[in-house]
Parts: sequence; C-alpha cells; structure tokens
Amino acid sequence: MKVVRTLDALRDVTTGWHKAGETIGVVPTMGALHIGHLSLVTAAKAGTDRVIVTIFVNPTQFNNASDLETYPRTEEDDLAKLDPLGVDVVYIPGVDQMYPDGFATNISVAGISGGLCGSKRPGHFDGVATIVTKLLLQTAADRGFFGNKDFQQLQVVKRLVRDLDIPTEIVGCPTVREDDGLALSSRNMRLSDGARKQAPHLYAAMMAAAKAMREGATVDAALGAARETILTAGFTEVEYLELRTEDGLHPMQELDVPARLLAAAWLDGVRLIDNIAV
Ligand code: AMP
Repeated sequence: MKVVRTLDALRDVTTGWHKAGETIGVVPTMGALHIGHLSLVTAAKAGTDRVIVTIFVNPTQFNNASDLETYPRTEEDDLAKLDPLGVDVVYIPGVDQMYPDGFATNISVAGISGGLCGSKRPGHFDGVATIVTKLLLQTAADRGFFGNKDFQQLQVVKRLVRDLDIPTEIVGCPTVREDDGLALSSRNMRLSDGARKQAPHLYAAMMAAAKAMREGATVDAALGAARETILTAGFTEVEYLELRTEDGLHPMQELDVPARLLAAAWLDGVRLIDNIAV
C-alpha cells in the first residue's frame, strides 16, 4: 500500500494503471475510519482492479470553525486499518494541494443541495461538490464508492457527475450500523457513555415511523410521534425529520414509494444524521 501526498505522484500511478487497462475505484473519506468506511473499500475491491482511498478533511464543507478543528485526525490508525484490505494507494493531500493560492472555483448543485442538511449548513454541499469533483478528476476513477449514510450527499454527487460529464460511475453502498442500530459515524466517538446509550433511539424512532406510515398512518402523525420519541429519549433538538422521494429528494406529503425518511438530530452537543428507505 502506497501513501501518496501530491497530485503529480498520484497521476504517475493512475496513468500506469489505465495504460495497463486496469479499472480504478476511489473511496473518498475524511479519515477517522470505521467499519462503515471499510465496507466501501470492500465494495471497491470487489468492483475495480485498483483501489484508492482518499483522506482529506475538507475545510470548505465545515460551517463551524470548532467542528473543523475538533474533527478527529487519526492518520496512523487509518493506515493500519487500510493496509490489510489490499488498498493500492492512500491519497492524503494537504490543504495547499487541494486549494492552492488563487483557487476561485465553486461547484454548486442547485435544487438537491437545498433543504435537509443544506438548510442549516449553508455552503456545505458546495464544499462537498467542489472537493468530490476534484477528487474524481484527480484520481481518474472509473467508479466512486459512497455511503447511503450521507444520502443527500450521494444524490448531490450523482447529479454533478451527470451534469459535468465526469466519466465515473457512482456506487451507493448500504449504511453500516452498530448492533443496536446506531449508524456508524466518526462523530459517535464524541458522545459521552450516557449519550451513546440514548443514540440508537433515533434509528428506532425512524423505523417505527416508517412502519406506521406503511400501515396507514399519515405522514404528519407518524413523524410527529417520532419527533416526540426522539426528544423524550434525550435528544435536545430534531433539526429535521422528513419524508422525501428517493430520487431527487422532493418533499412528500403522502407516502408513495420509493421514499426515504431522513433525519438530523442533536444529542450531547453532537449532530447525528440518519436515513432509511420506507
Ligand atoms: P466521511 O469520512 O464521514 O466523509 O465519509 C466518507 C464516506 O463514508 C461517505 O461516502 C460516507 O457516506 C461513508 N460512510 C460514513 N459512515 C458510513 C456508514 N455507517 N456506513 C456506510 N458508509 C458510511
């Protein structure tokens, strides 16, 4: 496994692979790797000849300086987790590699970037779209592997790849969960022991709401009850809890399939997000 920190060194490797007729898969991450990230690597290994994992904590997608500062950085551990999986290259560019002096371009995907995580995090998806575009072009990947965990992000990436004719197939992979249902996230490690025990109530409430809607409850009633459950469980705020169309993430007043239930909620000062198919 090779660690590469510059675009020139990365291009040397990828050009050789493509000349040899090998396909390239990329798994973009911000590090602090857990089993959810590693499941994307496994999917990439199965779907392409060569696998690149990128680790870059992208400053432009953070709205909050302290969130960026406290984001876990665990490079040594990350490399130790990737090594046994047969990853070919780990690309760890510096901020100056990605945003050199004079950088002035912004990729903004209209529509799908609004609402949900886009409402309270202005500019977040522009930051994501810009960095993902760069990473797909830099790695010259044939396939990019992304988690359903960040469902809105996955839709933003699918849209920009279509719109900009980027020749990378985007593959969405299932959310990996703890045994108690909590979706794995690098942010879970910030939860106190007590909050960690409360955290699975988010997923449980979403599952109960989905079941209720499938059995005929109105969307308003099911989501209202889920909101109550989440707050009673100790969450301090439900930022959003919404039923949307799976394709395009349009708001839905009545259940129709395929639909997606998406939520963001605060617990113990940590913002947790989750989503499920209904
Ligand atoms: P991040 O490092 O949080 O930016 O995430 C990098 C990639 O890992 C994104 O495509 C995420 O959707 C994906 N990911 C994060 N958590 C999970 C999870 N629990 N299951 C599957 N994929 C995940």
